[in-house]
Formats: sequence, C-alpha cells, structure tokens
Amino acid sequence: MASEMSIEKKKGKLINDIISTLNYLKQRGVEYIPDGPGVRALFGGGGGVADEIRVASESPKEILKSTVKSTAHEKEEQQTPMVEPPKMTLEEAIKKLGDCKRCKLSNSRKNIVFGAGNPNATLMFVGEGPGRDEDEQGIPFVGRAGKLLDKIIEAIDLKRSDVYIANIVKCRPPQNRNPEPDEASACIPFLMDQIGAIKPKIIVTLGAVATQHLLGTKGSLGSVRGRFHPLGQMETLVMPTFHPAYLLRDPSKKREAWDDMKKVRDMYNQLKEGD
Ligand code: SF4
Repeated sequence: MASEMSIEKKKGKLINDIISTLNYLKQRGVEYIPDGPGVRALFGGGGGVADEIRVASESPKEILKSTVKSTAHEKEEQQTPMVEPPKMTLEEAIKKLGDCKRCKLSNSRKNIVFGAGNPNATLMFVGEGPGRDEDEQGIPFVGRAGKLLDKIIEAIDLKRSDVYIANIVKCRPPQNRNPEPDEASACIPFLMDQIGAIKPKIIVTLGAVATQHLLGTKGSLGSVRGRFHPLGQMETLVMPTFHPAYLLRDPSKKREAWDDMKKVRDMYNQLKEGD
C-alpha cells in the first residue's frame, strides 16, 4: 500500500514536471514534440497516465490540454476546472464590479480593493484578501506584508509599478479570516476579468488560500510550491509561494521563498527576451 502511494506521488510529480517543461518549451516557441523512440519510451505504450500524454503529431496546445486533463483526473483534490477568462479591459471590469454586494463581505468593508499596478504587467501577484490597512486605503498590500512584498519585487529587479497586484476577494474578511467558499466563488469571476484584461504571463500566488482558489486544488501549499503550473487552458504560468504575512511570522521560510522568486525572475527574463 505504502509503495503504491509512493508510485502515485512520483507519478504526480512527473506529470507536474512535464507540464512545467511543456509550458516552458511552448513559451520559448517550440511548435511540436517530435516523435521518436526516446519520446515513445518516455510517454508511449506504457499504459496508465503515460498513454494519456500524446506525442505523435499533435500541437503543443493539444499536448498541453491532454496533460492538464490527465493531471486534473489524477488529482482527487481538484475542485473546479479553470475556464478561459472573459476578455475585457480593466476599466470595463471595474464598471462591471460596481458597488458590489454580491457576497456578505460587502457588509463590513470600508473600500473595495480592486487591485493596483501595471495594466499590461507580465507578472501578477494574487493574495487571498485585503487586510485592515488595505480596507482603509482601497489599495492591495500596503501594510507590513505589503512592505515585504515590495522588497520581494525589488529583489527580482522590478518595481511595484511593473507588476499588478490583486486578491481572491476584493473586500476584507472580518478579523482577517480566510475567505469562505461562497465569498471566493462570488469574487473570483472579477479576478478572472482582471487576468483576462492584463494577460500576465506569470502569476505568483501568495499563500495556500490564493493558490487553492486559483489552481482549483485542495492540496497543501507545500505540495505545489516552488514550481510552475499551467492556469487552465491559458498561456499563463502560476508559481505558488508563501504569503508575505506568513514570512513575517516565520522568517526561516524566506530562503525557500527566495528560491521560488529566483525561478520567477529567470522565467520573467526569458519571456521578456522572447518578446
Ligand atoms: S468580496 Fe467580491 S463579490 Fe464579495 S462583495 Fe466584495 S467585491 Fe463583491
């Protein structure tokens, strides 16, 4: 039983690695994966998950779709499949949101914290929800955690004005509790509107809550952190890492967070070179 679980775990890791590699290759302009004995040995005819990953003459998009589908199938924790976000401008998204009262968080908020930053950002950060300072000012990540996020952004040679910052929910949950499922469900369509408008190539999810809601998983942050994941069918890579507020509570995790951010920096630079 234990060895079966270990095989499943390895299989899951292998699939995640393949997704990351296919995404990377696709971003670098690779048009197809050539068929051949080596590829067949890796993917073909082995049965199980391997058979679901097609290699012959399919386009990268189809390969990616198949891979994502099989990963979703493998993950028991998968909740909801991510759909292609609607295409609208940020201004249209703000207008659509209006004076939103679609969930109970509207009862206690002072301000809707829509998001802030570069509307054409390549890199976007997504946290779970506004805190007290953000609720007061209507701007995301302005408290102590926000200051640390600024340092993290500067550490990868960017400025806050280069990136876009948003949250899963746009109104402060009372006592900074996690957003409840109905609140997140009501608000995520607006995050998807933002993502559709900005079209970031990389999204860094900050903490388990943001990661779970955006990737549609129930797994721990540790099980997905530190590597890129596709965002549904989109050409956007998601890197889950620690929330800055967690890093303030446990500075020993800063090293791992920095490892994640170095990967983000490298991918960002590669994508920029390819523009
Ligand atoms: S959290 Fe989102 S859905 Fe809920 S009231 Fe605020 S803006 Fe509307």
